[in-house]
Amino acid sequence: MKLDKYSVGTGDRFAHQAKAQLQACIQALDSGVEIIPVWNKSNREHTIIGSEPSSVRQAADAAVKTLGWKHSYFCDADHITIETVGRFMDACDFFTIDVADYIGQPAAAADIDAFVKRHPELLGKIRLEGVDETFEITEGTLRQTAQKFLVAVKKAGEVYRKVENAKGAGNFVPEVSMDETDRAQSPVELLIILSAIADEGIPVQTIAPKFSGRFNKGVDYVGDVAQFDREFALDVAAIAYAVKHFGLPENLKLSVHSGSDKFSIYPGIHAAMKRFGVGVHLKTAGTTWLEELIGLAEAGGDGLALAKEIYAEAFAHREELCGPYATVIDIDPARLPSPDEVRGWTSEQYTSALRHVREAKTYNNSLRQLLHVGFKVAARMGRRYLDLLEANEAIIARNVTENLYDRHIVPVFLGGQEVNRDSLARMRRKAGNQ
Ligand SMILES: [Zn+2]
Repeated sequence: MKLDKYSVGTGDRFAHQAKAQLQACIQALDSGVEIIPVWNKSNREHTIIGSEPSSVRQAADAAVKTLGWKHSYFCDADHITIETVGRFMDACDFFTIDVADYIGQPAAAADIDAFVKRHPELLGKIRLEGVDETFEITEGTLRQTAQKFLVAVKKAGEVYRKVENAKGAGNFVPEVSMDETDRAQSPVELLIILSAIADEGIPVQTIAPKFSGRFNKGVDYVGDVAQFDREFALDVAAIAYAVKHFGLPENLKLSVHSGSDKFSIYPGIHAAMKRFGVGVHLKTAGTTWLEELIGLAEAGGDGLALAKEIYAEAFAHREELCGPYATVIDIDPARLPSPDEVRGWTSEQYTSALRHVREAKTYNNSLRQLLHVGFKVAARMGRRYLDLLEANEAIIARNVTENLYDRHIVPVFLGGQEVNRDSLARMRRKAGNQ
């Protein structure tokens, strides 16, 4: 089972938007680019929502069947560990093996010695194709990096073999993720990590390092964009080297986690893909739920009322909701409107505060981040929330598809600027359709 060059990870917290998400891939295909959809959902998310991995599989299969998608697609057991992987075995064919917690656990001296001995080729100058810089790796660097990452890579091997035993080699896509940690991994570290992954016998198809800068949930990148661009290109070059020299799968590519809404770095990602002729896996999970809220608010009536109620609840429980996501959100409490104020909002006020249009003065990224982590509120509403999703399916689906296509697929995979149809164009179109 091989993951194609371009793929997009989408999340569907309430299992109602798979068709609308797949529609974005169909639009991409109409524009001449094949992008493989990967539906991902982590154990944490399943636990908060109270869902099972089989529901993701059912929704994906149904969407593919209804829309007649003839290309491949996957269900991703996102951020699984040896403890949590079990329940995902049947439903998933993509496994994001998360070993971030093991980074920094010191490796045994004998393992470090053996690793250094096995890799004389990593010592000294390494010329990477397509970039001006060369890596210079000393024995000290090699030892330090092994010391820091070998335990994590061995753990990844353990999880990989557990999945392989259950599903059979070649019957799933393995990813190794190291993004949920404090410090970014440098391109040199990535190269060394990949050599260890190859030693471990993991046929890794995607790797998710932690890049420098902030990848907050559902909002733009915060950091030095030029530095990111440089680092991303070096990572791509390091991967190409690793494929050639360590025998890793030819389609190995970077996986960008928390990749939704990172508009500032999309041009750099696209440029690197063009320059090196490679693909990327872009994980955008989490924004679809916000598009459900936008659709409900746009619908007015009960939908708008519920969207306001969800904000009020999220505001009241913001500490509890933000807790598990503290490292990946930056909310300015002073910028959060009071629930009373929001209660007086029109559809337009609500959607323009929430919808991620960078240049819009009304866009409020603190409100957006709070609602991003507020899906638990909707989960608690149960049927009440789902009934309104179903009643407003068309308007929500349009927002879900547009968000994925206009603001993610276009800038990352097609090389255009993210499209932000303003509310006026939206209203005009709406009037035209009626
Ligand atoms: Zn991640």
